[in-house]
This record gives sequence, structure tokens and C-alpha cells, in this order.
Amino acid sequence: MQYDGYLPEPCLLHPEQVTEYPDNLEVSKELQEQLGNWSMWQAADVEMDSDYESCPEEFYDSELAGAPGWKVGGWPRWTSTDPDPRLCTACGSDMDALLTIATFESGDDSSWLPRQEPEAASLTGFDPYERSQPTAVHIGSGYDQQLYVCPATPEHPHSELMH
Ligand SMILES: [Zn+2]
Repeated sequence: MQYDGYLPEPCLLHPEQVTEYPDNLEVSKELQEQLGNWSMWQAADVEMDSDYESCPEEFYDSELAGAPGWKVGGWPRWTSTDPDPRLCTACGSDMDALLTIATFESGDDSSWLPRQEPEAASLTGFDPYERSQPTAVHIGSGYDQQLYVCPATPEHPHSELMH
């Protein structure tokens, strides 16, 4: 049986180190209140569309938490469910995200748009309109596949989550 959707297209790898933060539902109650407070964002002079006035925590989740795309380490992106702790089956430790295999990178209007090499646009066979899915790997209905590792004992069984 073939799984074409799981075979990456050959593509260049340009690792980029980014800073991302946990989903707003994974931070303390006090911090959640601050993230949901429009006037605090205004006081911090953050450039934010007024559409977010009633829900600035959505701006946070979209622009600062959980970078999209393939990544090593970092935070889970809880797009289809609320955060759910991943506990090691051997010792009960809260597991860390190890690798994320994503169906999509990010759209052109996102702050997460990867830094582009100037020559990338002229590469043979490179379609700028397929930038959001350069590997052509397709997980489920456009989901992410995440592998988790036990932070206490890396030899403990890994777990996976598709979401
Ligand atoms: Zn463990």
C-alpha cells in the first residue's frame, strides 16, 4: 500500500530559529487575563487590527503562540481542541513536543512567513503559490502530526498526536 501524502517532495531545508509562546490556554490565569485585556495591548503600543478588540488573546495565539509549519521542539498548536496534557506512559511526566510534521506552513499575510532567500523565487520548478505546502505532506484533513518525548527519560516511549 502506498501513502503518497506522507512522502515529502524534495525541497530545500532552511532551518530558522524563532521565538514562540505557549497557547493562551496553557499560561497562568493571571497571564490569560492580561492577554485578554485590550487596554494592556494598547498601552504596550502593539500594532493590532481593531477586529481583535473583543478577543486580543486570538491575536496572541495567531501571531505569537505556536508557530505553524514543521518544527523541532517548541509548543503544540492547539487549533482544533483545547490543550490536553501529554503524559508519559512510563513515568507520568508531562511530555514535550519533539517534532511537528505540518500539512501547511503559513500564509503570506502571517507574521510567521519564513524568511525567504532572494534566489528562492527563481528556483526551477518552485511555485510561489505552493509556498504554504512545500513538502506536499498531507496529514489527515490538513492537520499537524506531533511526536512527544519524555523530558525525564528520553528512552521512555514516544507518543504522537494528530490535531
Ligand atoms: Zn517518562
